[in-house]
Amino acid sequence: MTVPRLPYVGRFAPTPSGPLHFGSLVAATGSWLEARAHAGRWLLRIEDLDTPRKVPGAEEAILAALGAFGFEWDGPVVRQSERTGAYAAAFERLRQAGQVYPCACTRREIADSALARDGSPRYPGTCRDGLPPGRRPRAWRVRAEGLACFDDAIQGPQREELAEEIGDFIVRRADGIFAYQLAVVVDDAEAGVSHVVRGADLLESTGRQILLQRLLGLPQPAYAHLPVAANTAGEKLSKQTLARALDAASAPATLVAALDFLGQRPPPALARASLAEVWAWAGAHWRLEQVPRCRSIAVASTHDEECP
Ligand code: GLU
Repeated sequence: MTVPRLPYVGRFAPTPSGPLHFGSLVAATGSWLEARAHAGRWLLRIEDLDTPRKVPGAEEAILAALGAFGFEWDGPVVRQSERTGAYAAAFERLRQAGQVYPCACTRREIADSALARDGSPRYPGTCRDGLPPGRRPRAWRVRAEGLACFDDAIQGPQREELAEEIGDFIVRRADGIFAYQLAVVVDDAEAGVSHVVRGADLLESTGRQILLQRLLGLPQPAYAHLPVAANTAGEKLSKQTLARALDAASAPATLVAALDFLGQRPPPALARASLAEVWAWAGAHWRLEQVPRCRSIAVASTHDEECP
């Protein structure tokens, strides 16, 4: 395992498929405070690679909400949609090294396969040694082999047998779009990201990303996966579960709720303080060790109500 580089560089990487909600605030708050605690930089990357999922106005809403909550990022905002050249170059290196192969299978054809660790179908390897006769290439998959290990600062030691638990996964989709897994490792490495602090819903992606870092000769950052906010039905707060957009008018109280969620035990009176006072308290009291060591926590209905 590569020793994380100093200085500390963290990042927040929202997907512009809707406005920020309480769950995204938790991830932003944890990664920002951890970066500040290390006198590090904190970068902002808009993950708008998946253009069909892009919602008009979502990026502007995200930037406005981050600003209203008092986040300040270092350097210019990076947009994945402007970086396809870098992903294509990385893909080409994998292709020339024989690490990726074209796959003709449709989603339906692999739907009955055994499941991978994250519950998605594990690719059975149909096209691994060449396309079946008469079939046309669609997506490109990377050969998932070996072991991915990392010591998560919150979730503890993680170990994934890539072939058995993940299977060969897509790095370039049938529509030509590079997969999140490839883009994220290229972006993090190029920006010098030393520490990835993000939601535990991405824990199962980390083994895939470590494999790609290894194949591309990129450094492995340190990881800390925060518990994700779930609604009372146990679903992660997301645009799909209609989590409510953050309301800038109640920023201090919402931020205090995020700190409480992250196990920081803010005094209740802080909810009536100004945003600057809440950040001052948070900066002085932030301890990653206090973050609950679980993958998800249900939050009260104030944060998971449907959009009006
Ligand atoms: N774009 C991803 C999301 O919004 C986060 C990716 C990451 O932090 O690696 O869930």
